[in-house]
Amino acid sequence: MEKTLSIIKPDAVAKGVIGKIIDRFESNGLRIAGMKKLQLSTQQAEEFYAIHKERPFYADLVKFMTSGPVVVMVLEGENAVKKNRELMGATNPKEADKGTIRADFAESIEANAVHGSDSLENAKNEVAFFFDGREIL
Ligand code: ATP
Ligand code: MG
Repeated sequence: MEKTLSIIKPDAVAKGVIGKIIDRFESNGLRIAGMKKLQLSTQQAEEFYAIHKERPFYADLVKFMTSGPVVVMVLEGENAVKKNRELMGATNPKEADKGTIRADFAESIEANAVHGSDSLENAKNEVAFFFDGREIL
């Protein structure tokens, strides 16, 4: 069993599709092991996306991720990291496969509805970034 981190981003929260997105996970073998709604501080968003610090879109990404509340979740299941990435679809919703979360709920490459950890190692770090052990059930 793997664990991975999912974030429902501010665009999808504002649109009122939290439940529809969670249904994609629960209907595809990913269990919600932890969940909370919060608004990221600038410092938190900068740290979370520090890997993209040198990219031209970094400042806009931090601004977007702090623009409203998000829902962070620990998803658990077999091959959870890969399965979550498959359910999400490509970073750019215009390139995302039909039926994926980003194809169905995202507007643009920036406002792209969800985040998902991209490796097991990053998943461990990202889960620990938001959750302590007692919050994962
Ligand atoms: P995420 O890390 O959010 O799950 P991802 O792994 O599919 O998305 P990354 O390459 O890690 O994509 O980029 C992180 C985020 O930065 C993207 O989700 C998107 O919001 C933003 N981003 C990536 N590329 C661009 C770009 N060319 N222009 C604007 N924003 C971008
Ligand atoms: Mg990424």
